[in-house]
Amino acid sequence: MSFRNNFRKITPYVPGEQSKDRDIVKINANENPYPPSPKAAAALKTFDCEKLRFYPNANATILKEVLADYYGVGVENVFVGNGSDDVIALAFQSFFCSDKPIAYPDITYSFYPVWCDLFRIEYTTYPLDENFRINLEDYKAENGGVVIPNPNAPTSLGEGEEFIRTLLDYNRDSVVIIDEAYVDFGGYSSVNLTKEYDNLLVTGTFSKSRSLAGIRLGFAIGSAELISVLEAVKNSYNSYTVDSLAIAMGIESVKDDEYFKETVGKVIKTRKRVTDELRALGFEVLDSQTNFIMATHCGYNMKDYFDYLKAKKVFIRYFSLPRIDKYVRITIGTDGEMDRFLEETRNFLGGK
Ligand SMILES: *Cc1c(COP(=O)(O)O)cnc(C)c1O
Repeated sequence: MSFRNNFRKITPYVPGEQSKDRDIVKINANENPYPPSPKAAAALKTFDCEKLRFYPNANATILKEVLADYYGVGVENVFVGNGSDDVIALAFQSFFCSDKPIAYPDITYSFYPVWCDLFRIEYTTYPLDENFRINLEDYKAENGGVVIPNPNAPTSLGEGEEFIRTLLDYNRDSVVIIDEAYVDFGGYSSVNLTKEYDNLLVTGTFSKSRSLAGIRLGFAIGSAELISVLEAVKNSYNSYTVDSLAIAMGIESVKDDEYFKETVGKVIKTRKRVTDELRALGFEVLDSQTNFIMATHCGYNMKDYFDYLKAKKVFIRYFSLPRIDKYVRITIGTDGEMDRFLEETRNFLGGK
């Protein structure tokens, strides 16, 4: 016997590679190419360090109020956490305690199966159809809960109100989590449906559309009942998931709607340009509602394309997984970064 026999055996989630090389065009982790709001930056610069002696406000009350105001819900309908990964992981522990498997698509955020393993939650995956769309009828089957990103990742495809309503109508007896990590880039947000469906939890993040991946801030919106269960579970393992700096910067970020709309608008504009240019080069590009695009080219091997770009210091993402191994995922960067990406793409196509 060895203490090693008692180790937890688990296969972790693998995030996109990070790199310190300034020369690299890093369009592999769906980060925002623009800096956070200057008002959030000012909150950091003027932060009174002396205050860090104290624990943060365990309830992040002002941040919750600002978010409640922004989304038109009550403070009792808002939960905040240390990135939406933290919020979703807590939601899994809070709402998926049934003996029936939870349901989600076969191609989706690859963290879901990792949490299921970690928290010992059974799950069933339903295959997306040949156009990478979710088959609603699959979610009629009995389940212990549902989790779906909308728009979905890494397909970039989103669904509208009717779809979400039908999904909720089929699942009156389960908690349905809609992971809206990318919704600000043109998707449909089901936040308003939380007022009608008390089993709906919508999660969001400051990491993508608000350019604050580095401070780790996420939130959830749902019925007061769902939020109170999340709070109870959170307060059973760590009362201070959100630190004082994140709270201060998060508040200013949400208040600066003008900057938010401007930067999101720029990403959407660049996405359209890159999509059009790639299509003109013979790529098939899915209609993205996110800050990344899924693309493939029938004349070329996408792993070779990924490797070629990597050698040229342009980092995109390739998933060596069934069904999506013919695609690459490209995060939308600045126009300058995307010009370099397109230039190297032309070189790759021409050099074959
Ligand atoms: C990025 C992402 C998240 C989590 O982001 P955080 O940085 O933890 O807030 C959650 N879901 C999906 C689908 C994502 O792509």
